[in-house]
Amino acid sequence: MSKVAIVTGASKGIGAAIALQLAQEGYHLVINYNGNQQRAEAVKVLCEKFQTAIVVQANVAKSEEAKRLCDTAMETFGQIDVLVNNAGITKDNLILRMSESDFDDVLSTNLKGTFLMCKSVSKIMMKQRSGSIINISSVVGISGNAGQANYAASKAGIIGLTKSLAKEFASRNIRVNVVAPGFIQSDMTDKLDQEVIASLRAQIPMKRLGDPKDVANTVSFLVSEQSSYLTGQVICVDGGMVM
Ligand code: NAP
Repeated sequence: MSKVAIVTGASKGIGAAIALQLAQEGYHLVINYNGNQQRAEAVKVLCEKFQTAIVVQANVAKSEEAKRLCDTAMETFGQIDVLVNNAGITKDNLILRMSESDFDDVLSTNLKGTFLMCKSVSKIMMKQRSGSIINISSVVGISGNAGQANYAASKAGIIGLTKSLAKEFASRNIRVNVVAPGFIQSDMTDKLDQEVIASLRAQIPMKRLGDPKDVANTVSFLVSEQSSYLTGQVICVDGGMVM
């Protein structure tokens, strides 16, 4: 039996690239999305060129939906070897203009969603005595960013959560690591003004935006046997932006 991977927020962008990469490497895929069924189904078609794939709608910020996502993966494939917590949103504003609900929404999806998914798969992976969890943070979780207090707090929280779980799970042969992308071309960054994009590009030593594939390649390494002695680490994929 091939290994099984769940990728949250895999209907587009970085999540879609990770799902496709893992399918190419022989993983059966559980492609999660929240609102964009059409794009999730298109990712499924691409993944199915290589392996079996299913699409599951679930809002990872809701405990019953996160649990249903894991239950569906188990009912379909009977095991979960890899979980990539990629689902994420932004609701940017300076703190004086940031509403409490914009803070709560970003923390709920990005941080609580990651917690709920880790909790749901942990029982299964502990029983299997194997597994690999990758949590997608961001370089702004390390450096902070004006106008992204909610997002940076959620992404910094993911790093603390990951390191704690790495310590809890290490003896069970479950590794937990963070990938912290820098500035990657996707719908999330397409929302920014051209001026902001130009000034961000200027801050990147490699002078270019990353591609979702750059993140997918790092995830691929972190779930592979080649990184079998690596846990609790934060790998920045950012063209040298944060060192
Ligand atoms: P994106 O293109 O906006 O895609 C976000 C994905 O998350 C979509 O598939 C979306 O699904 C899903 N999603 C959102 N809320 C969800 C929820 N409550 N439950 C389940 N799925 C949900 O974003 P991206 O740029 O690929 O970013 C992917 C991850 O990388 C995020 O965690 C982001 O914070 C992180 N990141 C991105 C960058 C960057 O420069 N792009 C940099 C650092 C970190 P639907 O469309 O179906 O709703």
